[in-house]
Amino acid sequence: MLIANPENGRQDGNIDMNGFTVNGRGYRLPAGPVAVICVDGCEEEYLDVALAQGRMPSMARILEGGWRGSARGALPSFTNVNNAAIVTGAPPAITGLSGNFFLDPDTGEEVMMNSADFLRCETVLAAAARAGRKVAMVTAKEKLRDLLSPGLLTDGVIGMAFSSEKAAEARQPTHGISGVEALAGETPPIYSGEASVYVLRAGAALVAAGQADFLYLSLTDYIQHKYAPHEEGALEFYGAMDVELGRLVDLGCRLGITADHGMNAKCREDGTPRVIYLEDELYEEFGDGNKVICPITDPYVAHHGALGSYVTVHLAEPGRAAEIAGWIKSLEGVTEVLEKTQAADLLELPVDRIGDLIVMSAADTVLGRSPEHHDLSQLDRPLRSHGGRFETMVPLIFSGPLNAEYAAKAAADPRNFDVFDYVCNGLEQ
Ligand SMILES: [Zn+2]
Repeated sequence: MLIANPENGRQDGNIDMNGFTVNGRGYRLPAGPVAVICVDGCEEEYLDVALAQGRMPSMARILEGGWRGSARGALPSFTNVNNAAIVTGAPPAITGLSGNFFLDPDTGEEVMMNSADFLRCETVLAAAARAGRKVAMVTAKEKLRDLLSPGLLTDGVIGMAFSSEKAAEARQPTHGISGVEALAGETPPIYSGEASVYVLRAGAALVAAGQADFLYLSLTDYIQHKYAPHEEGALEFYGAMDVELGRLVDLGCRLGITADHGMNAKCREDGTPRVIYLEDELYEEFGDGNKVICPITDPYVAHHGALGSYVTVHLAEPGRAAEIAGWIKSLEGVTEVLEKTQAADLLELPVDRIGDLIVMSAADTVLGRSPEHHDLSQLDRPLRSHGGRFETMVPLIFSGPLNAEYAAKAAADPRNFDVFDYVCNGLEQ
């Protein structure tokens, strides 16, 4: 039944009293607060080790009455790609987000895809806000907030969207909230674990204050790039997150927890990074004019030097794609090479925002352009990164048991970007 939304009187056509539909999927709205958390870069092992060492008592409590499995994330296994998929419930072919970065075929320029203009479909968050929920999106990085906030702060819909990075700058007219520091504390540095813990703390404070009841809390992977699961730096971080997870559960939140991608060590035994500089390799074999784009690139590259396990290649002679793909495939450390249409089909990518080839590398190997494009001077520890096939499996956790239909769905084809669907439609609690 389609009726006017009681909160704003609009008749959007896709709203009814019990939920909403967005990107072809219906969502029921549970009575209590809902929070979906994207623990950026959360390879399963981080949780396994922290739980085994007793560092996550709240998570252990959540799992006792809840559900834990694994889900497949979207490729490339990068942050913007998967955050966009999660908040829309749709794959990259629909969201339009193929990386943090792409080569615009119209202008030939390399463009950072971190503004709202690049998102091609509506978000679950905007739809929930229109359906009358008090929606809050809190991200660690400001650029992610910009990317994912369309519809939430515009068109007369007042949700909230702010980042821990720019917490002090949040203002009612532009962010839907002022006084974030009074709510959650002083703005943390972006290159810190606190940037993530702050997101969870702010979320819990909003629920406690009755200011939000439908939340998306998206963290940053600074710690996971820096520390392996068994290292104290990681364990301390997961312990600090756990305190806030406990608060959210105690506040009666229905939780869905997943990640945008995993994380692997990308180095040799001596700790030096294992890199294939693909643009240089192509130059030596095929001459000038082939361009490698590293879509992991964003304004925050100090902790990975813009090196990930997925790149896309724009060829000087696209007619030679099959031949060049075959040659790239023979390079040691390369695991997959796909031509454009094949990649768009198999990986559900937007065909106009990828190059002629996409290339992925092994769990321990990253792909780059040439050494001068990658500043590794700020890497103070062995390189850990993501982007390829080996970082697509991520945790999928719910604070309650799944109903039979969604348990079957989770057994058949669990995807991280269905997490809002599970939380709204699939939990028994
Ligand atoms: Zn990420």
